[in-house]
Amino acid sequence: MLFRQLRRRRAKSPAVRTRRLTAEGVLSADVKQSIHDLLTREFSYYSLLKEAEQQEFVLRCVDIKSNLEFEAREELELTDEMSLLLSASMAQLTFGFKDYVLSNFKKVILYPSTFYSKLIEAEVKGLTYGNGFISLSWSHFEHGYEHGSDKLNLGLHEFAHALLLDKAKQFDVEAFDILEKMANFIKEEVEFTGMSDSLFRDYGLTNMHEFWAVAVEVYFENPVELAAKYPRLYRVMCVLLKQDLASRVLGIPVLK
Ligand SMILES: [Zn+2]
Repeated sequence: MLFRQLRRRRAKSPAVRTRRLTAEGVLSADVKQSIHDLLTREFSYYSLLKEAEQQEFVLRCVDIKSNLEFEAREELELTDEMSLLLSASMAQLTFGFKDYVLSNFKKVILYPSTFYSKLIEAEVKGLTYGNGFISLSWSHFEHGYEHGSDKLNLGLHEFAHALLLDKAKQFDVEAFDILEKMANFIKEEVEFTGMSDSLFRDYGLTNMHEFWAVAVEVYFENPVELAAKYPRLYRVMCVLLKQDLASRVLGIPVLK
C-alpha cells in the first residue's frame, strides 16, 4: 500500500532532468586517480567493480557530489573526502540506475555522532526528510563502511529512504508488492517464534519504509546470505535496485 501511495503522490511532481555535470574530459587524470585511490582504500563495493565500471563509478560520485550541498554541524569539520564518500554511498545504491541522481534531495547535514531531532523528539543517527534534506551521524556513517558485513550501514539506510521518495514511480509495482508480502512473512515468523530474524533486525519490521531501508542494508552487506535464505526477496531487491550483487560477489550467476 505504501508504495502505491508514493507512486501516486510522486507521479504529480514534475520530472527533474538529470544533468551529467562532469563530462569525461573535465576531470583531470590526477583527480580521477585520487578518487580511485580513496575508493579502493575505503569502499569495498568499488573493488567488486570491473575497470570500466570503476571509471563510471568515479564520474557518478563527482556528479552526485556536485548536485548536493553538504554541511557539517557542531564540532565536525567537513572535508572533500567526506563529501566524496557520502556521494560514493549514493552512487553504490543507484549504480543500477541510468538516472542515478536523487534529484529531489539537495542537502546532506552531518553531525559528529547521534543528534537530537526536535521533529520526533528523540536522539537519532539519521533522518531523511521528504523536503529534500538528509541528516546523518558521521561516525555511524563511517562505521557502516568499516564493518562491511554487520548489516548496519547508516548511509545506505538513509539514502534508501531518499531513493524510495525520489524514484517510487520508476519502481516495478509487482516487485514492491512481493517485498511487502515478504515483510509480512518475516514479521509473522518473528512474532510466532519470539526470536529475531538472523538477517532483518527488528527495527526493519516497524513499517514498510523501514523494511525497505533495512533490506537495502542487508542486500549490500550480506547479499549471498540474503540470496540463500530468502531467494524470492533477493530477486525482488535485484529488480528494484537493478543490480545483482550476490552474483558479483560469488563470480557466478545466483539468479536463475
Ligand atoms: Zn529508517
